[in-house]
Amino acid sequence: MFHATVLTLYPEMFPGPLDLSLAGRALERGDWSLEARNIRDVTTDRHRTVDDTPAGGGAGMVLKPDIVAAVIDATSTPGDTRPRLLMSPRGRPLDQARVRSLSADDGALILCGRFEGVDQRVIEARGLEEVSIGDYVLSGGELAAMVLIDAVVRLLPGVMGNAESGETESFETGLLEHPHYTHPQEWEGREIPEILTSGNHGKIDQWRRDQAEELTKERRPDLWEAYCAAGKKNGER
Ligand code: SAM
Repeated sequence: MFHATVLTLYPEMFPGPLDLSLAGRALERGDWSLEARNIRDVTTDRHRTVDDTPAGGGAGMVLKPDIVAAVIDATSTPGDTRPRLLMSPRGRPLDQARVRSLSADDGALILCGRFEGVDQRVIEARGLEEVSIGDYVLSGGELAAMVLIDAVVRLLPGVMGNAESGETESFETGLLEHPHYTHPQEWEGREIPEILTSGNHGKIDQWRRDQAEELTKERRPDLWEAYCAAGKKNGER
């Protein structure tokens, strides 16, 4: 079972939105589990200090290496092989391939940064993999951790109603997904594309693939380039 351990200065933020909808129902069923640990619990001083000023000067504060190491060590048991992640704008951008590989693990230990960040030495010493959820800066790693957990949990066995919907979604095929339509047939003068009501599933699949390719080419040239390089373009495979 996927067990997420989140190390945070704000454990009360969890499960938060992860307690609702798909992830929340799966949590209640026991398809995954969540433990939010307060980093401050490992402090021993009167002020429960977790941060200090940056070496070399500059703005803000930095999470102390001894504190971060202590909370990681207190949380992981000797046989714990789960990946250790640090949510960080400097990290490798999270993508569906990494989400899928994480969903095959036993869980993850996720450290949420705050302030200016985390002392580099503990990142190296405890083998933390830095993961970014995008090229923008949040005030803390908690929302980023929730994004990662939500994306992983929906791929766990039995969590999504229709298993197929996970495989045809954006990014799984290297493409953005085709557009969707539902009833009514005509809405504000706009019709559902005729092909989708033809009942010809071969043609529908082809139309969806063409649409996905067009969208990807137009909106995400980076994905399109990788897709073409992999020889997946329509008619090539
Ligand atoms: N000084 C850092 C920098 O310029 O890269 C930003 C620190 S940010 C204010 C505080 C924490 O929020 C980070 O340590 C990280 O845990 C989290 N965070 C911010 N943006 C993020 C992102 N795009 N992806 C993942 N985590 C992020």
